[in-house]
Amino acid sequence: MSLIDEYAQLKQKINIYDYEYYVLAVPTIRDIEYDQLMKQLEEIENIHPDLITPDSPTQRVSGEPTKLFKTVNHKFPMLSLANTYSEDEFIDYDNRIRSMLGDQEIIEYVAELKIDGVAVSLLYENGVLIRGATRGNGIQGDQITNNIRTIRSIPLKVLTKETFPNVFEIRGEVYMPLKAFIKINKQREENGENLFVNPRNATAGTLKLQYPHEVADRSLQMYSYQIQSEENEENNISHFDNLLDLQSTGFSVNPNYKLCTNIQEVMAYVEEWEQKRDNLPYEIDGIVVKVNNLKQHKKLGATAKNPRWAIAYKFKAQEVETYINKITWQVGRTGILTPVAELKPVFLAGTTVSRATLHNPDEIKRKDIREGDFVIIEKGGDIIPKVLYPLKEKRTSNLGNTFIPSFCPSCGQELVKNENEVALRCVNKKCRDQIKRKIEHFTSRNAMDIEGMGKAVVDLLVEQNILKNIADIYDIKKEDIISLEGFADKSADNLIKAINDSKNRELYRLIFGMGVPYIGINAAKIISNNFRNLKVLLYVVVDKIVALPGIGDKMADSLIQYFKENENIQIILRLEKNGLNFFNEIGLENIENILNGGTFVLTGTLPTLKRIQATQMIEKYGGRVVSSVSKNTDYVLAGEKAGSKFDKANKLNIPVISEHEFLEMIKK
Ligand code: NAD
Repeated sequence: MSLIDEYAQLKQKINIYDYEYYVLAVPTIRDIEYDQLMKQLEEIENIHPDLITPDSPTQRVSGEPTKLFKTVNHKFPMLSLANTYSEDEFIDYDNRIRSMLGDQEIIEYVAELKIDGVAVSLLYENGVLIRGATRGNGIQGDQITNNIRTIRSIPLKVLTKETFPNVFEIRGEVYMPLKAFIKINKQREENGENLFVNPRNATAGTLKLQYPHEVADRSLQMYSYQIQSEENEENNISHFDNLLDLQSTGFSVNPNYKLCTNIQEVMAYVEEWEQKRDNLPYEIDGIVVKVNNLKQHKKLGATAKNPRWAIAYKFKAQEVETYINKITWQVGRTGILTPVAELKPVFLAGTTVSRATLHNPDEIKRKDIREGDFVIIEKGGDIIPKVLYPLKEKRTSNLGNTFIPSFCPSCGQELVKNENEVALRCVNKKCRDQIKRKIEHFTSRNAMDIEGMGKAVVDLLVEQNILKNIADIYDIKKEDIISLEGFADKSADNLIKAINDSKNRELYRLIFGMGVPYIGINAAKIISNNFRNLKVLLYVVVDKIVALPGIGDKMADSLIQYFKENENIQIILRLEKNGLNFFNEIGLENIENILNGGTFVLTGTLPTLKRIQATQMIEKYGGRVVSSVSKNTDYVLAGEKAGSKFDKANKLNIPVISEHEFLEMIKK
């Protein structure tokens, strides 16, 4: 491959990774690998500066302002930081600085913790906060002043000294303390919402919320680390003095910064904090080292992307070695088997990890992971553990290949692998594990929402032969369960009551809860709104279903198939006999037709509405929700972490609206 091709390919790759990282917030490679690619790009550009174009990832900060807020121009560009991962690179940096500044200069550094959050810039006039903005692409960011105002460690007004400039910008890192992060994720789990992968992600998501009172509930904090102004430039001569000034003026400055007289002291600081980082109540991902003398900053200047007077030393991702005791295979509701590594419990980045998913048989083969292997595990995005690779050199000779089952571990039936699928499936409808997971799906929050009937209780009731299918739930009597482990008089009463309460749930929940393949919650709603009586589905023909907007051939076939099977018909008749609601009385006539049949695609996480709620509202006001963007889509309702649908909408010139705009639309 020619160098030019290699260069073009690298640029393209990095641009994709940037998009995944900054826009979608779902990186697909590790930072260290990304940084290596960036280094390769820089090396080519050093040799062939003529190749550099303004769109090269080396020439710009790679975020972008969103469409959710007003875009503002920063008074001074908000740059990124060059980074290193090794001591040697650090020494090289020191040598470079020395050669750029000359032998005569005394060079001191300030070392600070690199807080893993989101950079913001705060504009103060006469001591009053007048604007807060995100970094965006470094030149333009989102104006998030109202959200910024809710952060307690940001002073709305400061008592400036005489020597202080009238207009200045503060740079700092907004972050979410670990305690708040854990609490919020727990709440999200209870609400059935997607979890934030790490505190940085949670901070970025929170700053983009449209309602400041919600931001206020998320306990964000900020550490300030820089002041910039066009006035009084000569007042302070060092970064260290600036930090002291910020502290005395009322800004919250991380107290762990240190003035170092040489690079060895900086290295000692790095080592110290690499050890101590797990004890901090917030996450750090490295150390930032800054030349102390501000005149030297001027001399050193900046590249298009980074100031030359600072560099980040990034800690390696948190990885540990552990051991795979066993690889187990879990059978899901649809019969798909997932391999799970049962690990020797190990402490990693704040929690004890004892299991990690191995995804599918192909992944096991690709990584050659075996039972009894010593492995390196990493918390992907710092929260979800994954097995990176086995330590093959530690293998004993008798370690056999990983056993990929041919028969279902739950029921013993031979497994099936469909063409073009990586998954193994058990197709036995009587398989006990599948039954358990099917019933658990039926009782889950988005379906029939039967409180007290989570995984453990469902497992127990199936094991006790009390439940064999979803209809059995409504035959449970108090005397069936009162003597079971974990039940007492009151808890048995509560469960019976919860089961009875669920009989009146909306029709779409029942349809969704039945677990018909390919029928998700949206399809269940469309079916419920159009047919309005579950029993009609026993007689309906495929053409009528396919004619429904939002229902494809695969879904229609699957539905027809389900309602044709005798076993399912018997279940439906029993559910009817037990008094479950089979009707949707609201139907289509009671819709307020404000949206006039307009089609909406939802993408990303909306600030306040759950997907279900947004969909219900769209349907209530006469719109339709479809799953993919096409030229027939009227609006894309986008929230945080909007994905490829957002891009497609832009490409097709389809209006992208925020939750706020949507709510305004239906208010009219
Ligand atoms: P960065 O996170 O490497 O460092 C710069 C940021 O550090 C600043 O903007 C600031 O927000 C923060 N910071 C924290 N404490 C600070 C302090 N005391 N002083 C100064 N700044 C401080 O840079 P970035 O531009 O935010 O992100 C670039 C990095 O993101 C890359 O180096 C890479 O590791 C990662 N990335 C990864 C992927 C991927 O696909 N994995 C893609 C793009 C970027």
